[in-house]
Amino acid sequence: MVHPYANQRIGLATMHGKECALAAPFRRVLGARIVVPPLDTDALGTFSGEVPRPDALVETALLKAEMVFEAMPDVDCALASEGSYGPIERLPLVPGGVELLAFVDRKHGIRHVETMATHRTTWRLQRFAKGDPDRLLALKGMGFPRFGVFVVCSSDMSRPIKNLATVDEVIAAMDREAERSQDGLAVLYSDMRAHKNPMRMLVLRAAGFRLAKRLQRLCPKCHAPGYGPIGSRRGLPCEACGEPTHWIDFEIDGCSVCGHAVSRPRKDGRRTAPRRSCKACR
Ligand SMILES: [Zn+2]
Ligand SMILES: [Zn+2]
Repeated sequence: MVHPYANQRIGLATMHGKECALAAPFRRVLGARIVVPPLDTDALGTFSGEVPRPDALVETALLKAEMVFEAMPDVDCALASEGSYGPIERLPLVPGGVELLAFVDRKHGIRHVETMATHRTTWRLQRFAKGDPDRLLALKGMGFPRFGVFVVCSSDMSRPIKNLATVDEVIAAMDREAERSQDGLAVLYSDMRAHKNPMRMLVLRAAGFRLAKRLQRLCPKCHAPGYGPIGSRRGLPCEACGEPTHWIDFEIDGCSVCGHAVSRPRKDGRRTAPRRSCKACR
């Protein structure tokens, strides 16, 4: 049976060359072709400002997918990605991030969002005074110029300086921003736009393969793409007394189009939970 997306065009909302990361997964797994319409996706938020919240990422990605349909009326499938990087709230000193891919098939009524959390990021933010000798080392540590950086005044972070191409340009911008800052400091931080960040491209590619593989599976009942895990049920019985525990008992595979769902036992084959996880036995 031929996959519904074979030889289909999928519109990708990007201004930052994300097709370099996403074309291969969709071509190899589904035989689909990623096409990029002319869009101003920066209008929906950029990486130069505040780090957006994960729930806002889903909405923004879905909005971007809708922009694809407006720009390409003859395309039925759209793909958009959002990323959020910065210090993880729980572990303030460990940088990390999440990449989110949203897929919309308006013909079949399919919406699928794939997220991928990662610690593979070079995200850094540091402050420096004018002439600080550590500026160069910090810049090198951030992977510049392979990885992009932004410079901004510490007391007014609203207008970051982007697209700095050489070390001299960055250093000059830092000293200028430090000079006009109330605390005498310039902020140097990572440019996380995909085309300025090779590591983000790798994470996007991995997320792309995960999403393409999910779409590869067709619903056994209605043959819509995207059949797969939709949830789980807890209550695996205790090995000693048989009471339900918080361990997962069944995994559930389902179809978002026709609602067909099937539960299956745990992948690891466990039929009972260890006694130490049982409230009744403790
Ligand atoms: Zn028990
Ligand atoms: Zn179905």
